[in-house]
Amino acid sequence: MLNISCLPALSDNYIWMLDNGSDALVVDPGEAVPVLAEIERRRLQLTAILLTHHHGDHVDGVPALTARDDVDVYGPTGSAATIPGVTCEVGDGAELELLGQRFEVIAVPGHTLDHIAYYGAQAGAGGALFCGDTLFSAGCGRLFEGTAVQMHASLQRLAALPDATAVCCAHEYTSSNLAFAVSVEPDNEVLARHRAACRVLRAADQPTLPTTLGLERQINPFLRCAVPTVVAKALAQGCVGDTELAVFTRLRLMKDGFQMLT
Ligand SMILES: [Zn+2]
Repeated sequence: MLNISCLPALSDNYIWMLDNGSDALVVDPGEAVPVLAEIERRRLQLTAILLTHHHGDHVDGVPALTARDDVDVYGPTGSAATIPGVTCEVGDGAELELLGQRFEVIAVPGHTLDHIAYYGAQAGAGGALFCGDTLFSAGCGRLFEGTAVQMHASLQRLAALPDATAVCCAHEYTSSNLAFAVSVEPDNEVLARHRAACRVLRAADQPTLPTTLGLERQINPFLRCAVPTVVAKALAQGCVGDTELAVFTRLRLMKDGFQMLT
């Protein structure tokens, strides 16, 4: 089993690190300094970098890391021409052997068109998903390049993974996402309990991640577009139709305009 840790970076990013005690890989290094500090502190050898999409807060640390070590850099199809340092382009369905474990690439367009996720069934206790800016705890990424149709389909693919999957998101957006989720489902007791637990974590400057898919299915409105109370909320907010896609599309628009009141 691999160790999973998260390194805070920039203002609210997390760089996820996997290691087997000697070798390590990192996901979406938006800056190099936290990665270099950790691999030196723990005397690890950085062997691979996984990139989920092209945004600078996920890739800007690559050049400094590849200048120091001989590292394989995995990125989405077409990214060798657009992201400095990418050496291996990987697309949907690709299988990678990293740190002695198998990882699967899942295309998840929506936040960006090139967005991919990495899933390791044996990484961590119950498998781990590195989903960048696609799935967040109690939320999902903004639609910068893709459509609601694409994002909804992408989230459904991720939601099909096992309950125990550790969801390793790239941002600490949980507090604002939970505020929106509570506005959608004020009577969801699991959601209310989780919000209270996250407040304790954030007060202690601790990450609220990873979350699990099993929990997200209970608290994340974007994974709950068929739940009657969520459908009713979307309809009351002008949703056209009660299909899961229509509800998802309305929720995404509602979140875009949501102001946290706390
Ligand atoms: Zn992004």
